[in-house]
Amino acid sequence: MSGSCYTPPPFPHTSRLIMTDSVVTRFAPSPTGFLHIGGARTALFNWLYAKKRGGKMLLRIEDTDRERSTKEAIDAILDGLKWLELDWDDDVIYQFSRAARHREVAESLLASGRAYHCYATAEELAAMREKARAEGRTRLYDGLWRDRDPATAPSGVKPTIRLKAPQTGETVIEDQVQGRVVWQNENLDDLVLLRGDGTPTYMLAVVVDDHDMGVTHVIRGDDHLINAARQKQIYDALEWDIPNMSHIPLIHGPDGSKLSKRHGALGVDAYRAMGYLPAALRNYLVRLGWSHGDQEIFSTQEMIDAFDLPAIGRSAARFDFAKLENLNGHYIRQSDDQSLVTQFEQVLDYVPEGAALKAKLNDATRAQLLRAMPSLKERAKTLIELISGAYFIFADRPLEIEPKAAVLLTPETRTLIGRLRIALEAVTDWTAETTETAMRNFAEQNNLKLGAVAQPLRVALTGRTTSPGIFDVLAVLGRQECLARLADQAA
Ligand code: GLU
Repeated sequence: MSGSCYTPPPFPHTSRLIMTDSVVTRFAPSPTGFLHIGGARTALFNWLYAKKRGGKMLLRIEDTDRERSTKEAIDAILDGLKWLELDWDDDVIYQFSRAARHREVAESLLASGRAYHCYATAEELAAMREKARAEGRTRLYDGLWRDRDPATAPSGVKPTIRLKAPQTGETVIEDQVQGRVVWQNENLDDLVLLRGDGTPTYMLAVVVDDHDMGVTHVIRGDDHLINAARQKQIYDALEWDIPNMSHIPLIHGPDGSKLSKRHGALGVDAYRAMGYLPAALRNYLVRLGWSHGDQEIFSTQEMIDAFDLPAIGRSAARFDFAKLENLNGHYIRQSDDQSLVTQFEQVLDYVPEGAALKAKLNDATRAQLLRAMPSLKERAKTLIELISGAYFIFADRPLEIEPKAAVLLTPETRTLIGRLRIALEAVTDWTAETTETAMRNFAEQNNLKLGAVAQPLRVALTGRTTSPGIFDVLAVLGRQECLARLADQAA
C-alpha cells in the first residue's frame, strides 16, 4: 500500500487501563494493508468469544511500523469491521502512541536484571548469525553482552535492550486450539525488546499492550505461534500472567495451497463490492475452521451461543467461493424485501456502474424495485446479480437487447409483439392478474402457447431472455412504459 504516515491520537500513558475479571479479547491488525479475509475471521472469532462470555472486544491498531502503516489502511480496517457489524468496545488503541510505556517496561526489566544492554555491532550480529546457521543452530545471538560488564561498552554505540531469556528448560504454551506446545529454551534467542533508537520491538509492544488492556484471551492466526513462545518469556520476566492463548489455523486455497488473490485472499471491501451480505460473510467465515455438528447456517445469536475455542480445528481451513456464493444466495432469499432495497442502494457506492444507477433511484424506482424484489431475490446469489436482474427497471428506452435475446426478435415475433401490444392496450386496470388474463386470451385466440407469446414479450420488456415472472415485469413497469417498450420493438 502506498500513502503517507498519519499522526495517531494521543493515548493515556498509564499502566493497566481496564480492571476486569470478565473476558477481554482484542483484534490487533497491522495497518499495512486492507482488512483481508483472514483478519476478518480473526476479528469475528474474537468478537464471538467476547459476546458469548459477556466480555469486551478491543481494537488495537499495531502501527509501530511507521514506514508501512497508512491512514488508508486504518480507514479500510475500521470500515471493514463496521460493514461486517463487528463492533469493538472502547476507543481504538494505537500502539505507536504507547511507545513511552513500552520503553518504561523495557527499562524496568533492565533495572530488575531480567534484561541487559547489548552493544553488538551490525557486523558482529551478522557474523553470529552466519556461524549459528553454519552450525545448524536456531539461536542466532550468542549472548555476547549477556554477562558482560557494561563498563566495557564501546562509546558512541546506542545499545539495544535484550531480554535475559532462560537458557535451559522449556517454554510452554497451553493453547486452546493447538494444545500444549513446547519449545526448548536453548533454541530461543535473547530477543531485542528496545532498539538502539529507543523504539520498542513488536514482541515487547504486544505483551505490554495486552497486559495493560487487560486482555484475557488472545485469539490470532497460528503464524503467531512462535511469537507466543517469545512473548511468554517476556511475561515471565515481568511476572505477569500470560493471557489464554488460541492460535487458529490460517485459511488456505481450495487446493490446500496458500490463499491467493484468485482464491479469495482479498480485502473485505472486495467482498462488499462483489455483492456479499455481511451476515452471509460472517456465517461463511465462522465455519472456516470452526464447526458445530453439521450446522451450516447460523444466526448471529446462534453463533454466539455455540462458539467455543476448543472446537476450532487444527488443520487449515479451505476457502471455497462456490460455498460462499450459495450461502449468500440463501441469505438474500431470507432477507426481507425492504432491507434488500437498502442494501442494493448501498452497494452501488462500491460497484463500477453504481453511480449511473444511483442517479436513477427515486421514490418511483425504489417502489418498483421493492415490488420486483420477491421475484428478483429468488434468482440472485449476490447483490450484483440482483442489480443485473433489476436491469429492466432502470433501463432507458429503446432497450439494449442482449445478443442472446436479440435472436428472438424476428420479423414474425416483431409482428406478434405489435398485435400483443394492441391487446394489452385494452387493459386499463393494469395489474399482474389483468395483464395475465389478457395475454392468455391473446394466446388462445391466436392458437399459440403462452410461452410463445411470453418470450418475445420478455425480450421486448427486459432486453433479456431471463427475468422475473413476466406478469410481475408487466406490473412493475406499469402500463405506459410497457406499451412504449413494446412499440419500440414492434414491426
Ligand atoms: N499485528 C499482528 C498482525 O496483524 C497481530 C498481532 C497479534 O494478534 O498478536 O498479524
